[in-house]
Amino acid sequence: GRGRSGRKRFLLKLSGEAFAGGGGLGVDPDVVHKMAHEIASVVRDGAELAVVIGGGNFFRGAELQVRGMDRARSDYMGMLGTVMNCLALQDFLEKEGIDSRVQTAITMGQVAEPYIPLRAVRHLEKGRVVIFGAGMGMPYFSTDTTAAQRALEIHAEALLMGKNGVDGVYDSDPAKNPDAVKFDALEYGEVITRDLKVADATAVTLCRDNKLPILVFELLAEGNIARAVKGEKIGTLVSN
Ligand code: UDP
Repeated sequence: GRGRSGRKRFLLKLSGEAFAGGGGLGVDPDVVHKMAHEIASVVRDGAELAVVIGGGNFFRGAELQVRGMDRARSDYMGMLGTVMNCLALQDFLEKEGIDSRVQTAITMGQVAEPYIPLRAVRHLEKGRVVIFGAGMGMPYFSTDTTAAQRALEIHAEALLMGKNGVDGVYDSDPAKNPDAVKFDALEYGEVITRDLKVADATAVTLCRDNKLPILVFELLAEGNIARAVKGEKIGTLVSN
């Protein structure tokens, strides 16, 4: 969790949906601006931050599959969607005066570096934000799983799962059930056996097997990314 710089390192997962704002599809620059502003203040305060962004605001492979498309091909479309989110975030980080690099799991030299873990760590040590795009580069995986894998490979302290419109993990869907109860803390095993909505099962088991804590929190509430990094008691903490 600490680089040579002595600063704490985190992997922040941003849901693609959040990027769409109220629009549902595509990127809402106002939302990205707000997120970049929050991330910039966290980095200025001395944390090292790597980011994985989802692509649900463009395409989800599983949804296109239901509509008759080949799963692998639609998953590639999903991965390409995440890259657009990465470029949008990079642009607004630049406007905040924060250096960043996008690294993609599918090579596209004109817009991003390839995924090179040691180089990513070097960027972080220099105070740059590293934004990982195109998921793992493999169909049938998710950006949640990517976030867990990248967090482990760069030795992040924790996986910060920023959610859109929900402030933690509940025992049932709070949007449908007014009596839903929020958990402050959970064990990995409970998340898996109760199928709680933290991340997909592949991501959760990866975190469990490697003892990587997951903090689930509301992404767009002002100051929340900073709170998550400081270890304040927000959201739901998943650990042993
Ligand atoms: N995807 C994939 N492999 C990966 C990461 C993502 O195939 O390693 C595809 C998959 O189709 C997924 C889409 O990219 O549905 C967008 O990512 P995700 O659904 O995780 O985005 P989020 O729901 O977090 O916005």
